[in-house]
Amino acid sequence: MLKHNLGFPRIGNKRELKKACEDYWSKKINLDSLLRVGKKIKKYNWKIQESSGLDLIPCNDFSFYDHVLDMSFLLGVIPEYFLSIPMKNEVDLYFSMARGFQKKTWDIQAMEMTKWFNTNYHYIVPEFEQQQKFSIFSNKIFEEVQELKNFLHSTKKIKPVLIGPVTYLFLGKEKNELFQKMDLIDNIIPIYIDILNKLSYIGIEWIQLDEPILSLDLSKKEIDILQYAYKEFSLKCSSVNILLTTYFEGISDNIFSIIENRCIKALHIDLIENSNQLNTILSFIKKTKIILSMGVIDGRNIWKNNYSNSIKYIEKAIQSIGFHRIMIAPSCSLLHVPIDIDDETLIHSNIKKKMAFAKQKIDELNDLEKIIKGDGRILPKNSLDLNKIQEKSNHLFKNIQKKTYNLKKEYINRKNNFLYRQNKQKKKFRLPLFPTTTIGSFPQTKEIRKLRNRFRKKELNQKEYDEQIKKYIVDVIKKQEEIDLDVLVHGEFERTDMVEYFSDQLKGIISTKNGWVQSYGSRCVKPPIIYGDVIRVFDMTTDWICYAQSHTNKLVKGMLTGPVTILQWSFVRDDQPIYETAYQIAWAIREEVLSLEKSGIQIIQIDEPALREGQPLRKKNWNFYFNWAINAFRISSSGVKDETQIHTHMCYSEFNDIIEHIVNLDADVITIESSRSKMKLLKSFSNFSYPNEIGPGMYDIHSPRIPSKEEILYLIKKACMLFPKKNIWVNPDCGLKTRNWNEVEVSLKNMTKAAKIARSECFCKKNSKD
Ligand code: GLN
Ligand code: ZN
Repeated sequence: MLKHNLGFPRIGNKRELKKACEDYWSKKINLDSLLRVGKKIKKYNWKIQESSGLDLIPCNDFSFYDHVLDMSFLLGVIPEYFLSIPMKNEVDLYFSMARGFQKKTWDIQAMEMTKWFNTNYHYIVPEFEQQQKFSIFSNKIFEEVQELKNFLHSTKKIKPVLIGPVTYLFLGKEKNELFQKMDLIDNIIPIYIDILNKLSYIGIEWIQLDEPILSLDLSKKEIDILQYAYKEFSLKCSSVNILLTTYFEGISDNIFSIIENRCIKALHIDLIENSNQLNTILSFIKKTKIILSMGVIDGRNIWKNNYSNSIKYIEKAIQSIGFHRIMIAPSCSLLHVPIDIDDETLIHSNIKKKMAFAKQKIDELNDLEKIIKGDGRILPKNSLDLNKIQEKSNHLFKNIQKKTYNLKKEYINRKNNFLYRQNKQKKKFRLPLFPTTTIGSFPQTKEIRKLRNRFRKKELNQKEYDEQIKKYIVDVIKKQEEIDLDVLVHGEFERTDMVEYFSDQLKGIISTKNGWVQSYGSRCVKPPIIYGDVIRVFDMTTDWICYAQSHTNKLVKGMLTGPVTILQWSFVRDDQPIYETAYQIAWAIREEVLSLEKSGIQIIQIDEPALREGQPLRKKNWNFYFNWAINAFRISSSGVKDETQIHTHMCYSEFNDIIEHIVNLDADVITIESSRSKMKLLKSFSNFSYPNEIGPGMYDIHSPRIPSKEEILYLIKKACMLFPKKNIWVNPDCGLKTRNWNEVEVSLKNMTKAAKIARSECFCKKNSKD
């Protein structure tokens, strides 16, 4: 039985990579220093993995920005416009693909970025030409193998990691519509063969090819292409052992034919996401010589392994195919978890002892091996521990469970339907046609960040801090009145992060000090940890919102983060179904909504930018997910009176194919990202008439560009073709916190001017939906 790992976090234990990259980009350090930091991080990672006794150590899992971009670089998939930039070195070319290139007469946009399957990691989307040529462009993988070889003094344990050819093509996009990316398989395979053979030539025995698309619903064509690719490898790379890895979901039996290819010596499956697949896979693998790599340790969450479960699976496999045909590993790359729990000095020991970060997860493989080999002392202690904790929390929180799990109609339904509510709200608010608003946050200046830092360091007491924040609120209210927006916000100055702000105040959730996880490039996030039952113990936002409201006669919109987003951007307890946790958070948010309403706030926005992200990889699981996710939103939003207007906001993803679910949220108003594609995103809304009010984003806040009033007017007109004009709101496409005040003021003024012109013009009468 071999122990291995699919990938280790590469940001460095103190986020050294972030600092080094950002310093390099701003020319504070030179290339040598940057490369040195990379080497140091790799060494640190290898040391951990080596000393814990792993039999195979991943290599090429390090990356200065993104491992998909590394693949593009390795395979020479570099869009022509980047090659034309005069570049000092390869590293600069690499970074310019990720970050764009602006200098003198050059203005080249960064390549597109999107989410890595259903995780919060973002990768750079490969861009293919019609006649895309592939060639070995970068030596990084070979250099890294050499580095690890120097470290280990042997190649025996080195397992280079590559994204498999079919997943790589699948992740990319075509530059135009004249061809299909999957048809490039013939061009790409010879290069992979070259790479595999080169690695084998320098003494590599095992190569890990990641094909996570095997966990998706695949078309016949995709399956055929997979079959073709691995057949080619079988024919032309006879001396390498391929460890084919799948993760994030179970694999289906219609792909077994692929695994039967001779080159595939081991298959990795994710038993955390899907343990049901084990029996089917064992009965198939039994008939072959393939080794089964069992992903029994959760690579995406931070809880200690449930040894008794893992042992159950491993023993089943041993009985079926024998001890020597088994590998054990984390379920996927550890990229998605922080590095070392021992650095968390502030977490209470009762919770901490339940947790394992990357370093600890590697050690857990050792424990499992010991137990399997007969040292049973570890097993009873840990499994008993875990069971006790679960019993205790079940017992303590029975009350909440009763409240949330029997979803009575009154918990998820507003008192009356949308049209009835709309009528009442219109009468009460008397807002103009095309009301203008923003998504919530206003520029988070250096000054504000400094203020929060001083508060955190206790240089300011609560009172002093609150006084300062209040000044910003008064100021932002005044500015919004000057801009002449119709529905105002308080600006979110008291929040560092839309999830952390709430998780810090809710019981049952904690933050870490150093629990960073890479989100994209040098950007890292520190997901909160939901360890117990989530309970709201006091008002979280009311004081701020009411303070803002007290400074204006216009309506101020209350701002909350929705339950699905809080859940999606946290590490979630795994001892109860995820929807139960979602409902608990929803209940807490509902209480906050009601408290805002009671304090006189009449418009409340519940942001759910992560609704789409939670969507399972397999279609068959979608309904189940949307059912509980929408229930959670509705629990949080449905307790209010007809006259109280519920807004929601969504961004970051495509909504076309989930439009029916968005409708089911039954929010009175949705503000949604759409300006980047000039409302293309809203295509589906035209085939399907969206029944409630909607604010399609009128300009892109992700760019410093200031939109003119003409272009906003054009988009308002376009929206009039899609929706009844009485349902249309005018707003930017997301929060303004990353922008500066100069841009924001001019942009919003152009926006309110455009809305006014639209109101006065009659174009909407003709050609419009009503
Ligand atoms: N209300 C939040 C803001 O304005 C929404 C952020 C988001 O959509 N991610 O910043
Ligand atoms: Zn947004």
